[in-house]
Amino acid sequence: MVDLKGQYLSLKQEIDQAVLDVLANCHYILGPNVQALEKETAHYLNAKHTVTCANGTDALHLALLAAGIGAGDEVITTPFTFIATAEAICYVGATPVFVDIEADTFNISVNAIAKAITKKTKAILPVHLFGQPANLAEIQKLADAHKLLVIEDCAQSFGASINKQQTGSFGALGCFSFFPSKNLGGFGDGGLISTNDDHYAERLLQLRNHGSKVRYYHDIIGYNSRLDEIQAAILRVKLKHIDSYNQNRRRVAQQYTQQLNDLPLRAPIEDGIGVHIYHQYTTLLNDANKRADVMQHLTQQGIACAVYYPVPLHQQKAFAQAGYGALPITEDVTSRCLSLPIFPEMTDAQIQIVCQALKDALA
Ligand SMILES: *Cc1c(COP(=O)(O)O)cnc(C)c1O
Repeated sequence: MVDLKGQYLSLKQEIDQAVLDVLANCHYILGPNVQALEKETAHYLNAKHTVTCANGTDALHLALLAAGIGAGDEVITTPFTFIATAEAICYVGATPVFVDIEADTFNISVNAIAKAITKKTKAILPVHLFGQPANLAEIQKLADAHKLLVIEDCAQSFGASINKQQTGSFGALGCFSFFPSKNLGGFGDGGLISTNDDHYAERLLQLRNHGSKVRYYHDIIGYNSRLDEIQAAILRVKLKHIDSYNQNRRRVAQQYTQQLNDLPLRAPIEDGIGVHIYHQYTTLLNDANKRADVMQHLTQQGIACAVYYPVPLHQQKAFAQAGYGALPITEDVTSRCLSLPIFPEMTDAQIQIVCQALKDALA
């Protein structure tokens, strides 16, 4: 689905040097690269603070803790996302409330959020799914009217923006992942939380490092959730290229959409609210029954494809006891969605091969 090697080779000298410098410097934990990356990402995102951590799941967990969300609280989120979004809500003892999505963008439905707000609701946790910004203006309006926090899951949206403002800088807290296949990916796990709130930032710095501001003085119970210095050094090299990576993902998406025009499937729809950065290029097949055969055909041709996500969260075994009701749009989408390979280095010839194979498979 991505060409991690191609991206590495394009920056090999600079990345190798950055890693070797860390090895020689011997400052492996919370050193100068973590500090510099936090400064550089804060500048890029135009956020007052960013705090790095061990992974994107921890970013969500620590953000919810910093916001004071816990037992008895409800957090409204989407069922069409990676499990980590909802796991983090459970980690703090709160209850994820899943609401349906928009049929066109696959992002959380604002109308559905409005209907799900109760006295227990403390926060709304939208995901900028596949790199397309959720409708943050409308979500924030709802949140303000009901005194709720907005916490953004930006794991798939580093560099996506609305009116030139970066995702992650709208809500109270923005949670990012540097998992290798994300738009800004490290060579291992990594995460980051952005916030404009001094109090949240201070809490996050403590939470990620054993509740400590001064070494061996622990004000709260925290965690070991630090970003490695080596990862920070690599991410600093890649951060300089993120806009170009995202522009190239948009180039690939545009070509796909043109070439797949006549097929019995729906290309991704951009609602124009923000800039979609195509973490995934996810189509909807007209016929759910064709998906397995199409995938088999592509696989036989040596072409990757994937279903993000085959089981919506409200139907996962892990949530079976909670007894969530039906969410028809999500269930329809999960039965028909199919994601194609997309990465910044993808060539015209590669796009052509994928499209031809898809045409053959659907013929
Ligand atoms: C990847 C991802 C996460 C989790 O990030 P990790 O770094 O893998 O822990 C959370 N939410 C979404 C939407 C993701 O895609």
